[in-house]
Amino acid sequence: MTALLTELDTTARAALKSPTTIEDTTLFPSVDSLYSRKPTWKRIKDAVVVSADLKNSTQLSFGKYINTSAKIYEASTAPLVSILWAFKPAFVDIQGDGAFAIYHGERATERALCAAITIKTFSAVTLEPKIREILGEKVPDTGLKTGMDRGTLIARKLGVHGTNEPVWAGRPVNFAFKCAGRADAHGLIVTEEVFKHFASNDYVTHSCDHSDPPTELWHETDVEKLGTHSKCKELTSHWCENGCGDRFATAILTGQKKRETVTRA
Ligand SMILES: [Zn+2]
Repeated sequence: MTALLTELDTTARAALKSPTTIEDTTLFPSVDSLYSRKPTWKRIKDAVVVSADLKNSTQLSFGKYINTSAKIYEASTAPLVSILWAFKPAFVDIQGDGAFAIYHGERATERALCAAITIKTFSAVTLEPKIREILGEKVPDTGLKTGMDRGTLIARKLGVHGTNEPVWAGRPVNFAFKCAGRADAHGLIVTEEVFKHFASNDYVTHSCDHSDPPTELWHETDVEKLGTHSKCKELTSHWCENGCGDRFATAILTGQKKRETVTRA
């Protein structure tokens, strides 16, 4: 062990002392194009990250639930990844009991939000009721918790012995994970940076016309781990199941913003 730690001391010291380079890129880089040999990171602006994981995965990982957990992971992970892919992400990765996706380019924030609301809807309308129906009442309360942020990322490939994995570092990944961590089952928390993008979008801020007049759907919440950026917004609803969901998603994805029925103070 001592020899390994001595070697790692040298590795860490060398990494901290050697210059790193940041290279700006406007197009989202493919994993193949990321640097692995030289300490050069590609910087990507306006990246939007959606992160989702399972509530109570700690409880689920213990012995008596291990079979149940395996079933819940199977039932949640593949649909989660399908939803993330359905809105044309630049990158998707499964991590532990969840997954995250990076959206970039035209209407990236809109695509990411629609993915996040679809995850929330799937969790509340399908996943949890099915878990209750098929696995019974004794399973710990669970469901997908989702977080979102946008900002600048840096990326390169890191690893040892020829196994290099892409590493996406920076605020949006970190903050999206923390927002998801703070959310409850079927919850969606987004940072102020994300919310301000939609602040005057009637399709995002207000409920469908099944409520007359439409009501505001987001409330303030505090994600303390975000420090000075702790003021976030939480969505209290999911896609309307009476026909409005698809129409609203299409409106958001095609850049529509105004509805006759929504009035703002
Ligand atoms: Zn509706």
